[in-house]
Amino acid sequence: MKIAIENIGKLGSRLGHITLETGIHADRVLQTPLCLLYTKSGCVPHLTYDVLQTVTESHDLSALPLQLNLSSVVESHKAIKAFKKGVASFMGFNNQLTYLTNHDPATKVISGYNGKQGIAVWTKKGKHFVDVSHFMEICESIQPDWIQILSDNDTEADSSNKSVNKKVNRSLQYLDDFLENLNKFENTKHCELFASIEGGFNINERIRSAKETTTRPVAGFVIEGFHNEGTEIEKSKFEDIKNVLVEFMDLIPRDKLRIMHGILLPHQILHLVEKGIDIFDSSYPFYITEKKCGLVFSFDYNHVENDKLNQLKSTQDINTIYEIDFSEKRFSDDFSPIVHNCQCITCKNHTRAYINHLLTTSEMLGSVLLMIHNLHHYLMFFQAIRNSMALNKFTALKTVVLLGHNDKVT
Ligand SMILES: [Zn+2]
Repeated sequence: MKIAIENIGKLGSRLGHITLETGIHADRVLQTPLCLLYTKSGCVPHLTYDVLQTVTESHDLSALPLQLNLSSVVESHKAIKAFKKGVASFMGFNNQLTYLTNHDPATKVISGYNGKQGIAVWTKKGKHFVDVSHFMEICESIQPDWIQILSDNDTEADSSNKSVNKKVNRSLQYLDDFLENLNKFENTKHCELFASIEGGFNINERIRSAKETTTRPVAGFVIEGFHNEGTEIEKSKFEDIKNVLVEFMDLIPRDKLRIMHGILLPHQILHLVEKGIDIFDSSYPFYITEKKCGLVFSFDYNHVENDKLNQLKSTQDINTIYEIDFSEKRFSDDFSPIVHNCQCITCKNHTRAYINHLLTTSEMLGSVLLMIHNLHHYLMFFQAIRNSMALNKFTALKTVVLLGHNDKVT
């Protein structure tokens, strides 16, 4: 895998591309900042493969790696092993690049169950304890292309220094145990590996974790330990996360990828891009769909004449409406699309009134139509991020997203 960074912004934003070099994905190019396709139980929620293809502008999913997590495969890895062709084919996504992560970014992880040997992974059947050797067996069985090596990210803003220190040590131990045994696993030893930088909100531990972890031979790093997945990040003080990030991001070599998982709001994505994060996931549009909402925020930066960002004193001032609840009665006679000029099949064929009817009568199609629009909208937002960086208009995009065009969308 080759990582080329074409453009670094004043504050550290990185426009680039990843070229895959081996196997069935050879010569495939992924653009960064990149949005991974979030999956739950082995599929993109609410969407069949055929419908999913219509969500992208080019109808081409090959540049969107699938993000799987341990809870989706911990019970099925033996069946996937018997199938022999790997998890992508098992899920019906032939030739799709797959990336195995530790946790589901849209589901809160229950705190306090990780141990010295491994981590707790939760499914509907309950807790599974996954140690490094079990984790390597799972990887070998399902044959993902990318792997986030096991780590203990069970830290939050109020975690004690002692607890954070323990989790940094554990994550380094899992990482070293994984690397030490890697050559024993024929499929896994060819995977691209990602190690996690932990340390919660403790700057000393973050720096220690970053310094130690970046000495290991991996393709990139997952920045974790700010929250326990799920919707917690919406409540977290994002300024605090930014303040910690600036202390250690420079320690990560330029040619290594930086990933952050989780439900992140559009302005948070932009701030993180500015801090040098390359890869995110699409758990946010899924979360919005589950709330019966549609994404409506504007990212059309072409007509922004003035940089109004100096009006914005802090993220507390952000008043953009990102989503609207289309189950509200006021939409029952609204015959406009979710977003005017949106090119998704939902907006081209259906009205807000129809979606409101489906949602209020609990028809499954309501979630399907919302998910098509929300995922399309979010992927187009990432396209706008890349285009704006290439055109040196990132500040204009940030202005539109942070200050909002609420009069146009409500
Ligand atoms: Zn749409």
